[in-house]
Amino acid sequence: MDAQADPKRQVVDREETRRDCPVCPNTVEDTEHVFFNCIRFEEGREKLHRQLQDVARPENIVQLMLADEKN
Ligand SMILES: [Zn+2]
Repeated sequence: MDAQADPKRQVVDREETRRDCPVCPNTVEDTEHVFFNCIRFEEGREKLHRQLQDVARPENIVQLMLADEKN
C-alpha cells in the first residue's frame, strides 16, 4: 500500500499570522512594518507625506490611505 498518496494527509498548515515580509528578509510582516518600515510602500508613504505635509501616524494612516484610494 502507498500511504504517502493518501489525500487525507494534505493538511493545511499555513502560518497566516506570522509570515515574513516577502521583500524584507528576517522581518515579520505585520501592520506596523508594512505601513511604516517596509520598502514596498516607501513610494506611497512619500507621496502621502508630500501631499499632506505631515507624517503618517497610526491614528491617521488608515484615513489617509482611504482618502488616497478615492482620488
Ligand atoms: Zn517589508
